[in-house]
Amino acid sequence: MPKTAVIYARFSCSKQREASIEDQLRVCRQWCAREGYGVVAEYCDHALSGRSDDRPEFQRMIASAGESDIVLVYMMDRFSRDEYDAPIYKRALAQRGVRLVSALEAIPDSPEGIIYEKLLEGLAACESRKTSIRTKRGMEGNALKCKTNGIEIFGYRRSEEDTYEIDPDKAALVREAFRRRIARETVNAIARDFAQRGVRSRRGKPCGYTMMCRMLHDRRYTGRYEWGGIVKEGGMPAIIDAATFMEAQGVRGAKVRADERWGDFALAGRAICAGCGRNLQGVSGRGRNGVKYEYYRCKTGDVATVRRDELEGAVTSALRDLLSDRQEALRIAHLVAESADGTEVAMRRKQAADALSAAERGLENILAAIEQGIIAPGTKERITELEEQKARAEYDLEAIRDEEIDPERFADFLQSGAALDDATLLKTFVWQVVVSDDEVVAILNYDIKSNEPARLVIQRVRTKSGWCPV
Ligand SMILES: [Zn+2]
Repeated sequence: MPKTAVIYARFSCSKQREASIEDQLRVCRQWCAREGYGVVAEYCDHALSGRSDDRPEFQRMIASAGESDIVLVYMMDRFSRDEYDAPIYKRALAQRGVRLVSALEAIPDSPEGIIYEKLLEGLAACESRKTSIRTKRGMEGNALKCKTNGIEIFGYRRSEEDTYEIDPDKAALVREAFRRRIARETVNAIARDFAQRGVRSRRGKPCGYTMMCRMLHDRRYTGRYEWGGIVKEGGMPAIIDAATFMEAQGVRGAKVRADERWGDFALAGRAICAGCGRNLQGVSGRGRNGVKYEYYRCKTGDVATVRRDELEGAVTSALRDLLSDRQEALRIAHLVAESADGTEVAMRRKQAADALSAAERGLENILAAIEQGIIAPGTKERITELEEQKARAEYDLEAIRDEEIDPERFADFLQSGAALDDATLLKTFVWQVVVSDDEVVAILNYDIKSNEPARLVIQRVRTKSGWCPV
């Protein structure tokens, strides 16, 4: 069934510059078109303050709640400015299965996905100095012969010689994933579709963001064999060519809104005018003293032009303040750790641990038998077999440990400001910055609870150094 939306817009006369009803409706309608919602009704209150619930259209909208999947507002403050009212009405909507969404503040795609991808890049960089100790034994020798060593890769199966050979059906899915990613489809959309078509991970879970993300970044599909630091180009059959792989790596999501000319502005494409909902443009000009400044500016002039260093600086310092709070850093770290497919990792850890103890038990039993002078035929082969099983389990456990995110350590990483420069910090955490004359709302890349994006509100005071984060 198609998803439906009711749009609610409100215009108050108290503010000099705020989005007109028409602007609010336009932005909301665009949002619905983009996200695939059909608009079933529009309610508009003119020149009424949000504090009072004496708003006829608002009341009418609440009374008929249930006619749509969501109620869409331009920004949350359109719904209600009253901190006591808002939760009551939100609950009223929720009770009828209606979700409240804000067009400017909604984070499309999976917020966990975005922050996970972003932060994992950072973590990988921070962890790269550490090289893990691998359990080697005969496996290294196997790797030199490009054998699987028990490592499964979606799209391949094990040949009789324990090397990789292409599994035609699954390989077709891999090619399809790359093709769709290059056509700018989101990782989540592809994963969802695959899951619906019954594609499952090795452990039987429906295909999800993590699996798809891994697939799209797996260089082995180009025929590059990799195992424990041993790399052999052409060591296994290729499913996709190197050019396709590289092209897919270059896709940075379908929501590229930045104007190329000002690509180096850290908030390019993400700074939005609260008046009209359009992107602010990056421009440069000279101040009174002849010094060159860069600005974020609304083309139609709904909001006062803001200096780039001030806007970026204010958001950056608010972010650093946020991260300096251990609780908040830990919360983000947990969010990231949980979105990293914790259950799958836990299951694989248990399997590896079980295999390890079984092998160890088996070896002990044989040893005990030998001590008693019992030597059955085939004992030597059995020992070799168990030792291999043990080595493989140890290797698996080690590999799983590498994949796991320890929230405490991750929080340390987030808090060590040195690891993230200002531009990276902004790019990592900020989904959107909505600029109005009296405040700046930075909407972050993750949800504080379901459907409620984390945000920073910074009061905007138009004096020389007039920025104060709240
Ligand atoms: Zn504007």
